[in-house]
Amino acid sequence: MSEENLTSQQTIDLFEKFVIPNYRRYPISLVRGEGSHVWDAEGKKYLDLFPGWGCNILGYSPSKVVQAIQNQVNQLIHVPNTWYTQQQGEFAEKLVRHSFGQAFFCNSGAEANEAAIKLARLHNEGERYKIITFENSFHGRTLGTLTATGQAKCHQGLGPLVAGFSYAPFNDLQAVDDLIDEKTAAIMVEPVQGEGGVNVPHADFLPGLRKLATERDLLLIFDEVQTGIGRTGEWFGYQNFDVQPDVITLAKGLAGGVACGAMIAKKEIAAGLKPGTHASTFGGNSLAMSAGIATIKTIEEENLLENCREISAFIQEYFQNLKEQCPAIKDIRVKGLMVGIELSYPADKVVAACMERSVLVNATQEFVLRMLPAINISKEDIKHGCQVVGEVLQNLQQER
Ligand code: PMP
Repeated sequence: MSEENLTSQQTIDLFEKFVIPNYRRYPISLVRGEGSHVWDAEGKKYLDLFPGWGCNILGYSPSKVVQAIQNQVNQLIHVPNTWYTQQQGEFAEKLVRHSFGQAFFCNSGAEANEAAIKLARLHNEGERYKIITFENSFHGRTLGTLTATGQAKCHQGLGPLVAGFSYAPFNDLQAVDDLIDEKTAAIMVEPVQGEGGVNVPHADFLPGLRKLATERDLLLIFDEVQTGIGRTGEWFGYQNFDVQPDVITLAKGLAGGVACGAMIAKKEIAAGLKPGTHASTFGGNSLAMSAGIATIKTIEEENLLENCREISAFIQEYFQNLKEQCPAIKDIRVKGLMVGIELSYPADKVVAACMERSVLVNATQEFVLRMLPAINISKEDIKHGCQVVGEVLQNLQQER
């Protein structure tokens, strides 16, 4: 980086010339973060209730993760998987002790899901290849995972897609049953749909999928890219629902904001991923692994699952009360610190008005206001954040 600090506009000028414009971006350049706060190039401070699209599960620059990264860069940044590294072994141990099976490491959610899709095919030795996923799901942007994604807008212009995917409505066990045939290898589902609008399953849905998968000899794959690592108030989303998947995929918060993905599979199923069938050059690199170990330690030592549940209860109560004065609030969907508030008007208006008041939130599926706050957010910060969002919702209500 140059010595000189650029203004937001100077950075935007660089992007206009040199960066492919495949994202809609807000006209702000962010330069520094701490906890749930982030600062722009002009020195304005924001409270971020959607830090890092959910990757910053411990907020910005969490101290134990920073320390672990600083120590690790002096030792070893990356060696490929032709060697053993202590960091990869120890991070796998930590993850598996909170879940099951064995871990494979990669760098993103899409890659973790690609690994799971390949494992489902390999497990059946190429005999079965079909995978059932769900409407409004989101599994990534590679050709395989975007085909798995049950949203037509993600498929546009990209055909032919990968063969073998079909989509059932979320919460509809009968529809899943109807889609299973002799070539079906797996069912893949987010325990709580994130991008699809924070859709929480009915109590019998995930156990019902388990029953179907067991009866029809299918793998049950949970995409925990968004629900994993404490996001739902448990280590992994499935632990809220009395169900045991065969495979889970992880990314986002896995290494406290450093790029990292993982697939965890039951040991006997993981055996399908033999040498030569799958690999990732950067997967499991020492830097990401050290950050991951520090992330898990922080959650354990600071009792953050408990904090996540307490903050979640506060948010639910706050918005339930607000709903009485705000008929534009159609539905409040919360699991841990996955929060979706469905409105009767487009949620991007709320995002813009909150941003003016220095609070960052997100909109998904047009009408759903979404928040994924850090699980170590303080009561004071969440109170302030809810108050601002609440006032914005009330003001917009009056304007209508
Ligand atoms: N699965 C889910 C449930 C996700 O929410 C996302 C990202 N929003 C992905 C997969 C893809 O992850 P990545 O962008 O890291 O590839």
